[in-house]
Amino acid sequence: MSANRAIWLTTGLMAASLTALLACASRFDANRKAEEERIAGILRSYLEDSDIVDNSLGEGETHGMPQYIFIEPGTDYLSKLRADIKALKPPELVSGQQFLDRACLELTKGTRFDGKIQINRPPQRDTVNIYVLRRDPKGITQTFHGNCTYIGWMNAIVCDAAFLRRMLAEIDAYTEFYDLSWFIDAQGPIDANRTTPEMQDEIRRQLKACFLLWIIGHEIGHAVLHYDYVTGRSKPIHLHDAGFLQREQEADRFVAESFARHQDWASWFWLALSEIFQHEYRKHMPPDSLNSSDNPNPRLAAQEYLSIQTSTYDLPLVVRCIRMLCQMVAVLPKLDLSGYHNEVNRHITVVEHSEDVDAYLLVMTAVLLILIAESSRVWPASRRG
Ligand SMILES: [Zn+2]
Repeated sequence: MSANRAIWLTTGLMAASLTALLACASRFDANRKAEEERIAGILRSYLEDSDIVDNSLGEGETHGMPQYIFIEPGTDYLSKLRADIKALKPPELVSGQQFLDRACLELTKGTRFDGKIQINRPPQRDTVNIYVLRRDPKGITQTFHGNCTYIGWMNAIVCDAAFLRRMLAEIDAYTEFYDLSWFIDAQGPIDANRTTPEMQDEIRRQLKACFLLWIIGHEIGHAVLHYDYVTGRSKPIHLHDAGFLQREQEADRFVAESFARHQDWASWFWLALSEIFQHEYRKHMPPDSLNSSDNPNPRLAAQEYLSIQTSTYDLPLVVRCIRMLCQMVAVLPKLDLSGYHNEVNRHITVVEHSEDVDAYLLVMTAVLLILIAESSRVWPASRRG
């Protein structure tokens, strides 16, 4: 073969490979575009159905806190909050919608979604589209109940309205406060005898606001960091994924770093989350230990070892909460110089109890029973023989 011919042949082969690659890439792009369109269509159809979309978070409910959360840097926020709560100074309330809008703007600051975030609105490209839904009949989240899920396509985050409402109602029912006692008044746990109803109302309002910021902020973290990962596999992030913990940590770290922009803001968020953790933790404690004189001991979690079983799609809230707290401390070590939250985290083990294991055990038990039945049928006969 002459040198010229070889060059022509090589060039031809390279051109053919390049064309094939480009065709593949454009088909890949077309598939992705089609999937974005399909999800956008479903989301639009959900918005048209008042049985599916839930706007109650933005309607009636009001959340006190923005004057603290969005305080000017440099203001002594904690002293102000402490003084206001003690003085029963009425907070400046905003509507739920105003709160969510401002919170979302704050959480996307400095990201590629800066200012591009909306809740229960027709989906837009290059925007974080959050949906609070009563149900997900077309299954775009795969596991809808009890969670908020980032689904990748259209940068959509889908929240189970019942989950958010249940958690807000639980916080509304808090009558004792554990970690907050050290902040408001270091004389011991705050209970109904030592606080006025107005003071408790204000604390609960602040806790609810921080809960929403945490849950929504975590999913915004996934949207900022994990679009390629989630759309590349066409499945939301799952407990059984390789690298699940790392992605969860990254999303938590995103929240921690957003809050770390204002140290006072971070301090309050950390304290509020720590309080929510105390309540979640007590749900997993044996009832006798809670009836003991130790309760309500705010440092209970550092003294006990807790094993938590999980069989769900996501981690139980108590585990997510302590891990979020540890990320806060990792970003801002001054928050917890005692190492308390890391110590608590070390005391909690997660035992996976999957339904697959249940099914496997059931089948094995059935096989064993059949074998025993068979052998007992055969055994007497052979003995007689
Ligand atoms: Zn997550």
